[in-house]
Amino acid sequence: VSAYTLEYQVRIAFLQRGALRYLAKTDPLTGLLNRGAINHKLSQLVEYAFREQKTITLMLADVDYFKPYNDCYGHLEGDRCLQAVAAALGRNCQRPLDFVGRYGGEEFLLLWFDAAPKEAAGFAHRAKDSIEELRIPHFDSDISEQVTISGGMVTGVPSQPEQAEAILQQADQCLYRAKESGRNRVIIQDLGDENSIIALVK
Ligand code: GH3
Ligand code: MG
Ligand code: MG
Repeated sequence: VSAYTLEYQVRIAFLQRGALRYLAKTDPLTGLLNRGAINHKLSQLVEYAFREQKTITLMLADVDYFKPYNDCYGHLEGDRCLQAVAAALGRNCQRPLDFVGRYGGEEFLLLWFDAAPKEAAGFAHRAKDSIEELRIPHFDSDISEQVTISGGMVTGVPSQPEQAEAILQQADQCLYRAKESGRNRVIIQDLGDENSIIALVK
């Protein structure tokens, strides 16, 4: 009996460790990676991309007029909207090493590993379309009758192994410009060149 009990306890501990690891990395609302897990994964991938001279394509996506959405439809409906947006965005990054996470609130991070830079505009189009295709009504949006996203995207081979933070900042700057210039669009720049605009996807 004591051998059985011991075996049982070992198994439970094993499962609990796995569950805890999963919970520590996962955003409970959407099931996507949480911010901590994103940062960890991103640093590793940037280092790897630098070493292997592979391209990283990173997009920060933010739901347009989401505060008015909550005010109009209620917080619970807001949560449901975020779940649908997360699931749709999650389907955009499917190749090995690609990932999607919830960066915070109504902001998501999409990463494509080792894709040719000329694919970036197509990725941006598909990500934006995947949200419009949900056809979630948004009565209080100034730009559309449905829920839309804006995005900031950068693409290129990292020039240093510890560039994750700088890549995020550049993508965030692109996102800011996408919002400023009217929302419902993605601005794409070459990694490391803040004066470039390689595409504007509307
Ligand atoms: P913009 O187009 O400039 O992005 O405007 P916005 O209204 O989307 O931006 P803002 O940052 O002012 O609002 C974000 C809102 O997202 C405010 C916050 O209450 C809401 N939010 C953040 N996390 C959650 C969540 O988990 N659930 C719900 N329902 N709302 C959330
Ligand atoms: Mg936001
Ligand atoms: Mg927003």
